[in-house]
Amino acid sequence: APAPPPARHLFSDPAEVEALRGNLLAWYDRCKRDLPWRALAATEPDADRRGYAVWVSEIMLQQTQVATVIDYYKRWMQKWPTLQALAQASLEEVNELWAGLGYYSRGKRLQEAARKVVSELAGQMPRTAEDLQKLLPGVGRYTAGAIASISYGQATGVVDGNVIRVLCRLRCIGADSSSPAVIDRLWDMANVLVDRSRPGDFNQALMELGATVCVPKAPLCGECPVKQHCQAWRRKLFGNPPKVPDVEDCGVGDCPLCPPATEPWDSSLGVTNFPRKAAKKPPRAMRTATCVLERRGCHGAPEYLIVQRPSSGLLAGLWEFPSLPLAQDLQEEREREELADHLQAWMGRPVAAKSLRFIGEVIHIFSHIHQTYVVYSLPLDGDVTLDPALSPSRWVTEDEFHASAVSTAMKKV
Ligand code: SF4
Repeated sequence: APAPPPARHLFSDPAEVEALRGNLLAWYDRCKRDLPWRALAATEPDADRRGYAVWVSEIMLQQTQVATVIDYYKRWMQKWPTLQALAQASLEEVNELWAGLGYYSRGKRLQEAARKVVSELAGQMPRTAEDLQKLLPGVGRYTAGAIASISYGQATGVVDGNVIRVLCRLRCIGADSSSPAVIDRLWDMANVLVDRSRPGDFNQALMELGATVCVPKAPLCGECPVKQHCQAWRRKLFGNPPKVPDVEDCGVGDCPLCPPATEPWDSSLGVTNFPRKAAKKPPRAMRTATCVLERRGCHGAPEYLIVQRPSSGLLAGLWEFPSLPLAQDLQEEREREELADHLQAWMGRPVAAKSLRFIGEVIHIFSHIHQTYVVYSLPLDGDVTLDPALSPSRWVTEDEFHASAVSTAMKKV
């Protein structure tokens, strides 16, 4: 078994833990933001509906800002107020409502999980974090803990990006905060800290503190309700630790939770010395040729061809202009020829590369991909018969395009 971490990185004094819980909850009661999912979780008497309301919010909030989520959440809950309603929706409807929120597999998995609850679990949400994680696709440890504590009052902690930042600062944890060893310690810590009588509020308070006070770049330590428990703040006030270590100091260089000896405390950074992460891999560069095929519809208005992406992988099931991934170092002429060949397969008739008009390039950053769309257009005379053996495709007006399940990247195109 690994050696227990040094005392300075733990919450081992019960009186301190009690005081920290009290201060944090009192602050949360005074200062929490008014958010639609909080109102639902607080007032909904039915446990399954409460669980569903929290679940939807947690999935939408993964990787997405609160301000962006609010409108999507309201529309979603209006359209599918219960698990049963969501289970009956089509994936197309889910993708349409999700369009613009990003990370599209989240919506799809949410719907698959709702179907599973209805068909295999008699419509009843699992009630503990362990069962939620085990039984629901797309529900990881964090989401399971959040649903179980907020909806069902289970005294279980949660660790998300905000909690990582707050805990690393409270306990001066400077080892790589994305490493499994540190993450495990943070989960232990969250489970020790969580308030037994108000676990959902406590977890939300800790996340709220990270989102509004203990923010990444310029934390508002002066207003922080737990500053008297914060070692990073203390260290900032009192400077470097004394030359002679006291009983709470770790052995230099040996501690698995301290910053590496090669990257010691930087006094110019203050509390933002924590948390630290190993350098991120740069996003992969990709080029994709895409063509806006345009025809005159029956009322004379322009219509555009969109085709559906495969049902798995990046942007699964969404619609896009016919597109083709390109090798990185192709000459422009060659890119055009490859795109023309690709379009020919769609249209079942030759397409001359020189008839493709270059419009420009659009850059879109996905979490791990730096995507450049090389955009062409091709106005068509007369009708085109598309090969039904290929992916689903349809002609849409501009308004229909915007109402379809298309990604933000395609809207930019
Ligand atoms: Fe974060 Fe500052 Fe509060 Fe410490 S005192 S928890 S660094 S806001």
